Amino acid sequence: MRGLYLHVPFCRHKCAYCDFFSQQLSSEATKAYSEALAEEIKLKGPIWGGSINTIYFGGGTPSCLEPEIVAAALKGCGRFFSWDNSAEITFEVNPGAISRDQMHALSALGINRVSVGLQAAQDSLLQTLGRVHDVRDFETCIRDLRSAGILNYSVDAMYGLPGQTMPDYLDTLRFIVDSGANHVSSYALQLEEGTPMHTLWQQGLLTVPDEDQTAEMLLAGREYLIAQGFNHYEISNYARPGFESKHNLLYWRNQEYIGLGPSAASYIAGRRFVNVASLESYNKTLSLGRLPVSSCEHLDTATAMCETAILGLRMLCEGVNRVNFQARFGIDPVVYFAAQVEHWTKLGYLTVTTESILLTPKAIPVASQVHLSFLP
Ligand code: SF4
Repeated sequence: MRGLYLHVPFCRHKCAYCDFFSQQLSSEATKAYSEALAEEIKLKGPIWGGSINTIYFGGGTPSCLEPEIVAAALKGCGRFFSWDNSAEITFEVNPGAISRDQMHALSALGINRVSVGLQAAQDSLLQTLGRVHDVRDFETCIRDLRSAGILNYSVDAMYGLPGQTMPDYLDTLRFIVDSGANHVSSYALQLEEGTPMHTLWQQGLLTVPDEDQTAEMLLAGREYLIAQGFNHYEISNYARPGFESKHNLLYWRNQEYIGLGPSAASYIAGRRFVNVASLESYNKTLSLGRLPVSSCEHLDTATAMCETAILGLRMLCEGVNRVNFQARFGIDPVVYFAAQVEHWTKLGYLTVTTESILLTPKAIPVASQVHLSFLP
């Protein structure tokens, strides 16, 4: 399995908690980006082209792009990469940043899965987060999506927000389920240094739920979604059976992907490349016919084994697949990580089956501690 990731580095407005690479939208900037992206495809395609299974437009806010730019990017990719009708093609959308016509145009281009950034079903919380949309925009967005025939959609929620109560969070999940979503991504707020929200928190002007409250939200949300027929298939992701994100599974299975666009990462042929996180530098380097790489790392076997285990443990239903691990590295992960497996199994945080090593439900709130112990 291999996938393509295209990073769209534009947003209408920066959210108060966000440290993803994105900048203010403008028509000149999107034009320059689109030309540079075409160059990057031409440079990477002949080296890594071939069959792919997933395409993911992430950001930023991909729905800021005119459908013509998306069409050109897909056409450019199609010169070097091939995919069939079973390929999952996902597009991230922000409510209020997409029209009904755009949605129809994207559907006509073959986009068959959409990820909608809602975050919370309370306008007051959306304002705290600095989101550009309100709850009604989300409702319009879902109506437009469905009218365009895109019924496979995921919705993002957040917990641990300033001023958010447990009923707020559960109402958000209920609202998402009622919208017909068959996939939910739910993330705890991370206060990233350099963001306005982090500054307010440092100045004591903002309080967030403590660790215990945040863990309670995680567990209550999990219980609710499971009762609604969703599988908690990855630490932050829930899906109705058959609606798991194929593209993200590729990351968690530590398989290959090719990233395009500023700040996008690629993992291919045992190497990880990361593009420059600057649109100016991205455009300029490509205009000179060079790849805009800011770092390139060859992953030795020990690192690749640890990463495969840590990523695998994120998948709560699949875990670290022992047969695949043995086939890839020549050793059973239960043997290679014997000390960690024994330690966490005794505490009831890991379980080992003939097929996999898995986190137990008890380990979910402290998953990062278990993951850390698998680092080289
Ligand atoms: S829309 Fe997404 S990428 Fe853009 S600023 Fe908000 S959180 Fe960040």
